[in-house]
Amino acid sequence: MPAPQCASCHQARAALRRPRSGQALCGACFCAAFEAEVLHTVVAGRLLPPGAVVAVGASGGKDSTVLAHVLRELAPRLGISLHLVAVDEGIGGYRDAALAAVRRQAARWELPLTVVAYADLFGGWTMDAVARSTAGSGRSRACCTFCGVLRRRALEEGARLVGATHVVTGHNADDMAETVLMNFLRGDAGRLARGGGLGSPGEGGALPRCRPLQLASQKEVVLYAHFRRLDYFSEECVYAPEAFRGHARDLLKMLEAARPSAVLDLVHSAERLALAPAARPPPPGACSRCGALASRALCQACALLDGLNRGRPRLAIGKGRRGLDEEGPPREPQPSRPPTSQPVPDF
Ligand code: SF4
Repeated sequence: MPAPQCASCHQARAALRRPRSGQALCGACFCAAFEAEVLHTVVAGRLLPPGAVVAVGASGGKDSTVLAHVLRELAPRLGISLHLVAVDEGIGGYRDAALAAVRRQAARWELPLTVVAYADLFGGWTMDAVARSTAGSGRSRACCTFCGVLRRRALEEGARLVGATHVVTGHNADDMAETVLMNFLRGDAGRLARGGGLGSPGEGGALPRCRPLQLASQKEVVLYAHFRRLDYFSEECVYAPEAFRGHARDLLKMLEAARPSAVLDLVHSAERLALAPAARPPPPGACSRCGALASRALCQACALLDGLNRGRPRLAIGKGRRGLDEEGPPREPQPSRPPTSQPVPDF
């Protein structure tokens, strides 16, 4: 059966059906609609004011690649300037190839790029060294916990280094729904209550952070990358398979099959959650070592590094108030990228 006409321009043949609405669009109209929706998210949420110097967390994966490309398209209308900031976690055989993709993007889009490395920022610790240090602990899933906390800190440091006023990351709706689900599964009411909204306004002296793709589904991010022929890195990190996030992802896929709105429903549910007064944690203070926002004497990054430096990494990992839960940030690279030379199989 021939593809229907594009429901927007009524001229070209439709190349896809939008996963949520079912609307049949050609590639050009889909990309225009996607960009307009991100623009609406940024403007309606007042995420990036005119004049903002925006550090884009660039990993080389599909989400940050699409984010950088869309913001570059929108930058003149928003009145912002962009600077790519990439983090080298020190993961042999993985991060080097991903950073090569970021360098190609920066050159192609003529955007400034700064790379910050864990080894330089954290006293020589790389993720491979952390993995070796935690290997005997029986907590192999801990790698992503360390990495997530340290990467947040590294991105903040990189953004400050380039004089950024704001930080953006490429988390999409599926990533955020997974995070909400994980927090439910762990019974982590504090994180659930803090997890709503499109970012954080910059408490405790931190730079304001936001997620302009938070309302875009992962499928549409992949489709946008396909139709814009974006060059991104799509292999999975060697430490990703052990992360708890993978279970939340599998569960979410089952939920979505039964209820297509499950992803966005979960994202929006986090915006409406409030803790009962008795369950609210005390207001955070300042880390006694680095001054960052902390709910205990040391912030998460300093606590983890402290445990590593004392040769007792398990001390820094635990459940609830005693430490950090195993988390694992979104696994950006997905192996399901449609080849650019073939049609997208939505019809
Ligand atoms: Fe870090 Fe992501 Fe690899 Fe986990 S999967 S170790 S968070 S890069």
